[in-house]
Parts: sequence; C-alpha cells; structure tokens
Amino acid sequence: MIDTEFDKNHIWHPYTSMQTPLPVYPVVKAEGVYIQLEDGRRLIDGMASWWSMIHGYNRPELNKAVCGQLENMAHVMFGGLTHEPAIELAKLLISITPPSLQKIFISDSGSVAVEVAIKMAKQFWINQGKQTKSKILSLRGAYHGDTFTAMSVCDPVTGMHHLFKDSMPLNYFAEKPACRFGDLCSEKDISSIKSLLQSHQDKIAAIILEPIVQATGGMWFYSADYLTRVRTLCDEYDVLLIADEIATGFGRTGKLFACEHANIAPDILCLGKALTGGYMSLAATLCTEKVSAGISKDGGVFMHGPTFMGNPLACATAIASIKLLLESPWQETVKSIEQQLLTELKVCLESTTVSDVRVLGAIGVVEMKDAVDLKMAQAFFVSKGVWIRPFGKLLYIMPPYIIKKEELSKLTQVIIEFTELEELNTDSKS
Ligand SMILES: *Cc1c(COP(=O)(O)O)cnc(C)c1O
Repeated sequence: MIDTEFDKNHIWHPYTSMQTPLPVYPVVKAEGVYIQLEDGRRLIDGMASWWSMIHGYNRPELNKAVCGQLENMAHVMFGGLTHEPAIELAKLLISITPPSLQKIFISDSGSVAVEVAIKMAKQFWINQGKQTKSKILSLRGAYHGDTFTAMSVCDPVTGMHHLFKDSMPLNYFAEKPACRFGDLCSEKDISSIKSLLQSHQDKIAAIILEPIVQATGGMWFYSADYLTRVRTLCDEYDVLLIADEIATGFGRTGKLFACEHANIAPDILCLGKALTGGYMSLAATLCTEKVSAGISKDGGVFMHGPTFMGNPLACATAIASIKLLLESPWQETVKSIEQQLLTELKVCLESTTVSDVRVLGAIGVVEMKDAVDLKMAQAFFVSKGVWIRPFGKLLYIMPPYIIKKEELSKLTQVIIEFTELEELNTDSKS
C-alpha cells in the first residue's frame, strides 16, 4: 500500500496547504495515455503531466535513451568538462529554432531557464554601460515560473505578488492582449505595451511573453499580429524580446514553436516542459550572437552555472524525444486533435455555466462563468476514468499527442458531463 497518510502529513504538493491538503491519488504505473492508480483504475491523461508528456508514458524509444546513457554516465559536472549528449542536443535545438539563435544555456527547470533569460538581458545592458535598463516589461495574465525573478514577471494579481511584494523587483505590466488568436491586432490592443515602452524605454531591458498562448495565467490564445507588432516595437525602442516557449514548444500549438505563427524570432528563447518528452527535468535558454557578444565583450562572463547544468541523462532523453517528434507526422496529428476538440467541445457553449470555449492545436479550453471546486471536480473526473485538473474557472486539456480518437472523445464527453452537472447545481441553488 502506498502510504498516503505519510504523504498527507509530510510531503508538500504544488500550491497546497499542510493543514488542509487536498486529496492526492496514488499512482503505480503509467503507460501510453493511461495513468494507473493503486486501486487498479486506469485514467486517460488529459494533462500530459503539465504539457510535458507529449509521446505518452513509458515509451520504449525514450526508455532506451535513458538506459543507454546510464551505462556511460548519469551525470558529470559541466564546469570545465563537456560531453556528446549536450553537444548533440545543442546542435539539434539550434537547427530547429530561428537561425539567429546560436548560443544555448542548458539548465534544469523552466523557472531557471527564465531566470537565465532575464539575467542575460540585464547583463547585456550592464555590459553596454546602460545600467538603468534593468526592468522587465511583462503582460497581465502571464505566468513564467515560481522563483523570485520569474514570479516578478507573473501577473501581479493572479501571481503571488502581494505576498512577496517587498522582496520582489518591480517590473512593468502591459494589459493582457485582448485580440483573439486568428484576429488582427488593433491600435487599441497594442496601445498599452506601446505607451509603456514610450515612457520607460531607458529603464526596460526586455519584454518577456509567452508567445500566442498565455498558459497557466489563464489559457488565453492571442493574435499572432500582436506578437509581430511587439517584435517591431522591441526593435524600435531598443528592448530585447524574451519568448517563453516552455509550455508552447514542441508542437503543442500546431507549430513546432508558437513564434512561428507570427514568423518572428525572439532575442532570447526559453524551452522546458516537453523538452525531454516529460521524462525528466531539463530546460534551455537560447540567445542571439548579439546578446552573447554583448554579455561577453571586454571579458564579461555570464554569471550562472547550476550543479546539474547539461545533465547527460536528461540531454540524451531530450535528443530521443525531439527525434521521435520530428520523425512522426506530428503536424497532422496535432491538426486532427485540434479539429476533434473544436467539434466536440463546441456544445459546451450551450451550457449556461460556460462563458467561452477555445481550441488551438492540441489544447482545448472550456472557461466556466464561476470558479470550479477543485476537490469535487477532480473526484468527479477520476470517477469517470479521466485525469483532468481544472484551475480557477478553467477546464482544459492538452493530452499526449498519441491519444486515440475514442480516448479524446472520452475526455471531451466527461467535460461536457461536468458542465451539465454544474448547470444542475446552479439551478438547484437558485
Ligand atoms: C511551467 C512554466 C514555467 C516554469 O517551468 P518549471 O519547470 O515549472 O519551473 C515557466 N514558463 C512557462 C510559460 C511555463 O508554462
């Protein structure tokens, strides 16, 4: 028996209280799109373990990459040493991202990749003698991670700002882009970010954004035209652009990287989550020659170096995962998931409890009018044989790409049932 009592008393889970922890479900195995609980129930995974498990669980190709690398070395320090897995991964990432991105920093988690990106941007300006350019311009509705600097560029209301405001760097926030994906961006839509740049250009080092999809901060899909305009503004106002593709990278939005929807290249790019196909923690920050040369000129060294930097086991797994993706017909797969999500989730709009339905690539979102009771919802989903974890008003799925049509239908069907149940509940309350 898995000791869930010990878990409850001693182990933190993400964003939970130790006084009143929410129930956690013991997992013994995962295979393909299925997560198997200790009691034998098998749940269809609608979350891909937070965007990461794109090829499904327990993939022979990835298992082989891990075991193969393990026989050579699990880890070796990156200070003063190098190895084939890091070099091969770097070559691969440089070859599939915009050609202007030529330098890469391989770190251990998404939040660290964001820290590295922001540190690069600030150090770039310091080394140009422009110390005042030290603030970051971010967007309302953004999420970039949980460490302090990453937190300082998360939405100031839905992020954790008020708790830590005295110990966080102050940054600028533009309004969340109101223009939807597929629409053009009007002057009004761009005015907030533009006026912040106009007023504070000499204090801003970089703009950071999640291209096209604001993920954890609200599952919002915005206009590619907005992104194109932001790129132009960055050049006009001499500000670097950091694209945080930690959630969107590796095909999730229908393009290999979401920046491709707008045909733009950032100055700095963050990758993580699906990088190793969900097998282990690894992240990367890529930058242009201009940024790296700016940091390194006059003997400048980039001031970062985590213990597990370039971990060979994770790099070898990432190489196998990216090859697996590129060798698969992932564009068609993601397209057909998108079509199916659109067709099947549309009916949710008929429910009086639903305010919006949005689909992009292999991401389906049903936004409710009111916040969902997480504990109740999670129990409902588990009882129906699916793993979906809502937050706030949002029910959303981003399944492994290998999901079969009937398995995806099961996910959307259970979401529809949930909205119907919510409708009954609101009716009985009024
Ligand atoms: C998840 C996420 C992060 C943080 O990554 P961790 O690996 O959880 O530290 C940063 N940015 C975006 C856009 C993310 O979705």
